[in-house]
Amino acid sequence: MSAHAFLTVEDLHAGYGAGKVLHGIGFDVAEGEICAVLGPNGAGKTTLLRALCGMIRTEGVLRLDGVALPRRRPESVARMGVAHVPEGRGTFAPLSVAENLRLGAYTRRDRAAVAEDIERVYDYFPVLRERRAQAAGSLSGGEQQMVAIGRALMSRPRLILLDEPSLGLAPLVTRELFQIVRAVNERERTTVILVEQNAHLTLEFAHRAHVLETGRVVLSGAAADIRADAQVARAYLGIE
Ligand code: ATP
Repeated sequence: MSAHAFLTVEDLHAGYGAGKVLHGIGFDVAEGEICAVLGPNGAGKTTLLRALCGMIRTEGVLRLDGVALPRRRPESVARMGVAHVPEGRGTFAPLSVAENLRLGAYTRRDRAAVAEDIERVYDYFPVLRERRAQAAGSLSGGEQQMVAIGRALMSRPRLILLDEPSLGLAPLVTRELFQIVRAVNERERTTVILVEQNAHLTLEFAHRAHVLETGRVVLSGAAADIRADAQVARAYLGIE
């Protein structure tokens, strides 16, 4: 493992109660990278994100920029610059788009900068500017995912954890969303961990990818290499 990794995951074990889900996972993420975590249903992808953001009990090494991530203290992990966009989005349906975005900045006191950041989110997602006064619950699935990502950006994260943003979205909408994630990654230098079952599209946007199966990393590599190797793509990801 490189000494200069931005995120280090080493021999990570995690689970729920007595049940173990992750059995000694290890990988590094470089700063500014889009890192895909792929794998079938139940492989442990969501559990990995919950472990990273301090929601569940873990054993092993988790370091961000050389500093150990706090265990079982999601607020402290968030303060270190880690934003989590959970599966199912977690937007507040009755609140407006603008109110949802402001919630992402609830710990911040710099009101002028918060207002600027809301404008920046609208620049990434122009449709949200149009819908800023509308209840989040009345938006399309893709727009709700934009609100969830926009809200995460409001904390000015260094690392953003996206859990299956493509869930329930049409392929074209997913592609548009991934293009915006890449624009954020390039312009803000935000490191991204993108958990997905949609391997084909994800490999187009990610720099590196790790494939999980039953709580273990079974394949790691450059996304382009995995995509280019038809045998590997078929064997590990079912891509024909
Ligand atoms: P999916 O794409 O279906 O979400 P995944 O790769 O994200 O799959 P996880 O959600 O991490 O997989 O689930 C891994 C295992 O952990 C599964 O066997 C699941 O039943 C179990 N699990 C997930 N959440 C809980 C929980 N809150 N309590 C107990 N077991 C859980």
